Amino acid sequence: MIFDLQIRAQLENVGQIIPSDADDFEWNVMFKCSGCGEERDTFRVLSLSDTSTGKSGKGEAHLVETCHFCGRANTVVIMEKSGAIPYLEADSGSFKTLCSLDCRGLEPTKFKLGGGFRVSASNSKTVFDDVALADEEWTEYDATAKESLSIMEVESRFVKRK
Ligand SMILES: [Zn+2]
Repeated sequence: MIFDLQIRAQLENVGQIIPSDADDFEWNVMFKCSGCGEERDTFRVLSLSDTSTGKSGKGEAHLVETCHFCGRANTVVIMEKSGAIPYLEADSGSFKTLCSLDCRGLEPTKFKLGGGFRVSASNSKTVFDDVALADEEWTEYDATAKESLSIMEVESRFVKRK
């Protein structure tokens, strides 16, 4: 089952937001086992550059684990292009997919925003790296364009693909 992780934010003088490095970006996700419904209360860190092969040998995944309760072997694969599509100024106020997860036996329940984002100004060539969106809002002054940049009301959600 494929789940799209979508974000929404209000951008001001910000041209785009994108993970600085799509391969090494850390996606902090909480999952629930679809077999028994057991919900884990810890965030798992998934990264495109970090794969492992499950005991079943069914190929590589970015998360492989056996549920402690029902014994099911569950896997998650981060799909191609995840982290490579920017959230643009034109997307401001709307949800846009940032990452897609192909989940077998698991369902994502929560996403934790963190650091690792690159933010580009809309009216200059100024770029801010390793921006953390953990506080749900971010402001900075762009000395080149002589204006303030802000990212407010950051929200995320998972949408199951039909
Ligand atoms: Zn389970």
